[in-house]
Amino acid sequence: MHTQLLIGSRFEAGTEIEETILNPRTGETILSVPEASQGQVDAAVNAARRAFEGWSRTTPSERSGYLLKIAARIEEDAAEFARLEALNCGKPINAVLNDEIPAIVDCYRFFAGAVRTMPGTIAGEYLAGHTSMIRRDPIGVVASIAPWNYPLMMMAWKLAPAVAGGNTVVFKPSEQTPLTALKLAAILAEVLPEGVVNVVTGRGESVGNALINHREVDMISITGDVATGKKILQAAAKSVKRTHLELGGKAPVVVFDDADIDAVVSGLRAFGYYNAGQDCTAACRIYAGAKIYEKLVADLSAAVSTIKYGLADDAENEIGPLISRRQQDRVASFVERAAEQKHIEITAGGKPGTEGFYYQPTVVAGALQEDEIVRREVFGPVVSVTRFTDVDEAVNWANDSDYGLASSVWTKDVGRAMATAARLRYGCTWVNTHFMLVNEMPHGGLKQSGYGKDMSLYALEDYTAVRHVMVAHG
Ligand code: NAD
Repeated sequence: MHTQLLIGSRFEAGTEIEETILNPRTGETILSVPEASQGQVDAAVNAARRAFEGWSRTTPSERSGYLLKIAARIEEDAAEFARLEALNCGKPINAVLNDEIPAIVDCYRFFAGAVRTMPGTIAGEYLAGHTSMIRRDPIGVVASIAPWNYPLMMMAWKLAPAVAGGNTVVFKPSEQTPLTALKLAAILAEVLPEGVVNVVTGRGESVGNALINHREVDMISITGDVATGKKILQAAAKSVKRTHLELGGKAPVVVFDDADIDAVVSGLRAFGYYNAGQDCTAACRIYAGAKIYEKLVADLSAAVSTIKYGLADDAENEIGPLISRRQQDRVASFVERAAEQKHIEITAGGKPGTEGFYYQPTVVAGALQEDEIVRREVFGPVVSVTRFTDVDEAVNWANDSDYGLASSVWTKDVGRAMATAARLRYGCTWVNTHFMLVNEMPHGGLKQSGYGKDMSLYALEDYTAVRHVMVAHG
C-alpha cells in the first residue's frame, strides 16, 4: 500500500507522527500513515506554485486529455481502488465498485468535456469604440481538504474541476481515510506534469491548519464539518483567500398524505441508510402527514429491520459500519438521549454485539421539532419521523434548520410538489426521490451547509475567476 506523500514529482516519507488506519469492520489496524511536516506542506505548496505558471497556460483541450487519462487509469484499476476504499471505510465492496467508482470516473470525464465548452457573456462593443470580452482564468494554488465518508469521490469532486480550470492543487485526505488518495497519487505522478497535484497526509489541526494559513495558497476548498468550515473562514480572512465550503446537512423529507407509501418506504430504506447514514444528504429527518404517519412508521420500521450489514459474505451487505469507535459512540449517544424522552419511540437502535464499529439501522418515531435528534446532524443510520398537520407547518419545520444542503418532497400532486419545492431553502430538492446525484447538476448548500458547488459547470465557475478585458479601438 502507498503511504508516501506526493510533493512535485517526488514521493517522500512523512514524519514520525503517524496515524493508525483502522479497519472499521473489525477495529483492527491496517497500517500506519505518517503525517507531513510543516516543511513538507511548504514544499508541496511551492511545487504547486511553480507548476501553476505552465499549467495555467495549457489549453482546455490539453487539460481535458490529462483528465481523460486519469479517468481511464481509475477505471482500469477499479477493483483495487474499490478494495482499498472498502477496507479503509468498511463500505460493502459492491457499493464502491458499482455505485462510487463509475460516478468518480464519470466526474473526471465530465470536467474533461465541460472545460472545453465553458459558456459566458459574448464579446462586443458595450461601450462605443471599445471591445469587451470575458475571460475565466484559473485562481492559482488550491488547498483541497476532504472528509472520510467518500474519500475517492470527494477527491474527484475537488480535483477534477480545479485541475480542469487550470489551477494547481495540494490535496489533503482525511487522516482517517488516506488509502485511495495515496494510491491515486501514484497515478497522478505518472499522468500529470510535475507539481500540478500534490498529496499530503495528516490531521486537520496540524497539516490542514498549515495549508489553510499558507500565504501561497489562493483558495481553500473543504468538505467537512460546519465547525471546521468556520475555522477555514477565519484563516481565509487573514489573506482574503477564496473559499469553497461543503459542510454538513440534515435533510428534511416532507411526505404528504397522498404520497405512494411503498415508494417512500423503499426510498427511505435506501437513502436514509446508505453508507450507514454517513452522508450529508442522507434522508434523515422525515415529516409525515397525519393521515399516513402511523403506516409510514410501521412500514419503515419493518423495512429497516431487513437492512443487511455485518454479514461474513460481503456481497450480501447493504451497509457497512461507522468509520470509527468515536463515531459509533457519538451516534449511540444521540439515540440514548432521544430514548430518554417519553414521546419518542425507537425501533432497533444500539450497537450490535459484533466486532467493529457497527450501529443498528434505527427509526426514531414521534420526534418533535425541538428535539436534538431532529435538529443535529447524527451522521449515522438513524432516521427521525415527525408528524405534521398542514403544509405550512411542514415547510416551516423543514426550513427551521441551520443546514441547507438537501431536501425532498413526496406527493402525487405535481402542483403541490412544485409549490413546496419552491419554498424549501435547500441547495437541492428532490421530488419523489432523494439522494440522486449526477455530474451535470450542481451539489452544494445554503445557510451553514456552506456555499460553492461541486460537480456541474457551476463548479468550474467556482474554481475560475471572471475577468474583463477591454480593448480601445483608438
Ligand atoms: P471534519 O470537518 O472533521 O474533517 C474534514 C477535513 O477537514 C479532514 O481532512 C480534516 O483533517 C480537516 N480539518 C479538520 N480541522 C481542520 C482545520 N482546523 N484546518 C484545516 N483542516 C481541518 O469532517 P469529517 O468528520 O471528516 O467529515 C464529516 C463531516 O463532513 C460531516 O459534518 C458531513 O456532513 C460533512 N460532509 C459534507 C459534505 C457536503 O457535500 N456538504 C459531504 C461529505 C461530508
